Formats: sequence, structure tokens, C-alpha cells
Amino acid sequence: MGDWLHCNSCYRQPGSGRNYFLTNCGHIYCENCQDKGWKERCLLCGTGHPSSFKLTSKLPPPVDAYFSDPIKMLKQTASEMKQILAATEFQHHQRKRFMTHLQKNVSNQKAIVEKCEKELKEKTLTVFAQLEKEKTKYQNESRQLKEENKYLKVLLSEKVMVLHPFGAIQEYAWIHYNDIRPDLCENTAYRGKDGCDS
Ligand SMILES: [Zn+2]
Ligand SMILES: [Zn+2]
Repeated sequence: MGDWLHCNSCYRQPGSGRNYFLTNCGHIYCENCQDKGWKERCLLCGTGHPSSFKLTSKLPPPVDAYFSDPIKMLKQTASEMKQILAATEFQHHQRKRFMTHLQKNVSNQKAIVEKCEKELKEKTLTVFAQLEKEKTKYQNESRQLKEENKYLKVLLSEKVMVLHPFGAIQEYAWIHYNDIRPDLCENTAYRGKDGCDS
């Protein structure tokens, strides 16, 4: 107990073997002053029949705080504050590290998506170019076939037979197939009357 502790009535301090009491109205009396009637009514504030308990070296919280050394309490608080500060710094560092990792992940994913988009665009353009090329090729072939068809129709309308390399040979006036498809004539085993090799 501190050097400030005294009976609020007789001002005596502990040490003489007498007991001291703390009332619920916050006043301290020694057992010798009970005769003055503080148990019936507080001598200082007038509270009637105040409850009280004996002051010992071990007091229950929160009463004990009122009898503790403030310097010791401050030191303890400072130590706890230091621990709180250290924990805050530690958690801040860990959180920052984790956030950096997440941001890096997002950047990596973004780069992968951009790469895939670029590749897809390039492949699409290549396929389109190929399709365009094939379209032109088929258009040319179609045009050529139409011209051939037109020519054949003219020949048929004039009742002139065309000697086909794979067909039957007719006895009519021959039109050399070479005139129509010289490319086929060169590569086939066409043989016939007035044929390619004639
Ligand atoms: Zn007293
Ligand atoms: Zn009182």
C-alpha cells in the first residue's frame, strides 16, 4: 500500500496492526473509527449504510488499480504499447508483401490474356487471308469453267462433236480437244483420230 493511505477520519496510516476498509462511496476508514459511526453513515459524504471491504495486499479488480503504483502501471502500459506497435508493424509488412504478390499475379494474368488475344487476332487474320486466297482461286476456276461451258454449248449448237479424251470417238467432224483444254491433252494418254499427237 502506498504512503498516501490513511483513515479518512483519524488520519492514521497502516502499520499499527489495525484493519482498514474501503466503502462503496470511495472513502477509507480504520476499524478503530467504527465507533464514530461510518458503518451507519459515511462521515465524509453521508452515504447511508455504505458497503465496505477490508483492504488487504490482494485486491480484486477494478479496485486494485486504485491502489497500484501509477509509475509501474505506466511502464506496463508503455511495454504493452510497444508490443502493439511491433505487432502493427509486423502485420503491416506481411499485408504489404501479400498485396504485392497479388498485384504481381494480376499483372501476369493480364499479360497472358493480352498475349492470347494477340495470337488469336494473328491466327484469325491468317485464316481470313487464306480463305480470301481460296475464294479468288475458286472464282477464277468458276469463271474459266463458265467460259468452257459457253464454248461447248456453242459447239453443240453447231452440231459439232468434241473429241473427249475419255469418251467415245465419233465419226463426225472433229474438233481437236487440244483447242479447248490443251493442258489436259498434254497430260493424258489421249489417242484418237485427229488426236493430240496427230
Ligand atoms: Zn480512523
Ligand atoms: Zn463517503
